Amino acid sequence: MGGEIVLIGPPGSGKGTQARILVGSDGWLHLATGDLFRKHLKEGTPLGKLADSYMSKGEYVPDEVTVDIVRQRVRETPAAVRILFDGFPRTVPQAEALDALLAAAGRCVARVVLVEVPENELVERLAKRGQGRADDSPEVVRKRLRVYEEQTRPVVDFYQRRGLVRCVDGLGDVKEVASRLATAIS
Ligand code: AMP
Repeated sequence: MGGEIVLIGPPGSGKGTQARILVGSDGWLHLATGDLFRKHLKEGTPLGKLADSYMSKGEYVPDEVTVDIVRQRVRETPAAVRILFDGFPRTVPQAEALDALLAAAGRCVARVVLVEVPENELVERLAKRGQGRADDSPEVVRKRLRVYEEQTRPVVDFYQRRGLVRCVDGLGDVKEVASRLATAIS
């Protein structure tokens, strides 16, 4: 199967870890908007500072800003390299923009994988990660979960109507989940 893959999951679902395993093989680009924003923040760019003003509160960075950074990355990617989107699109306008920018590059979304983890498990996992990421404090975590339900659930429905979604159980050890994911995109 050719085409691009979109990985969707709530904060703490392990989608970043799984994305890195999936793209371990050559011929894939792992495009994670959260990673791009954190890189900009580390480098102290204006975009990094702008993104952080939202990230630190558990809110989404505005669509135009997020879509621009993705569009640029897609343009730079050679046609032979497939793209795994991790943490993008997170809103319906982003999903619509993704369709358009991929079409302009002769690409399309081939499959959407939803990593499912019950909310009580998410809260527990994020509490453990709390030392690692600035946006993993209990208050910001609650906000991020709420924003996910409000803004990103509708993205799952958007792709479900097109029959592109496969759900994967995100519980269990990393290897188990990775093998379920490999099946879901094959
Ligand atoms: P992540 O590393 O994917 O959990 O993203 C961390 C934070 O970056 C999110 O809580 C948002 O503030 C911001 N972010 C990442 N991706 C997006 C996106 N597609 N749209 C808006 N904000 C995003």
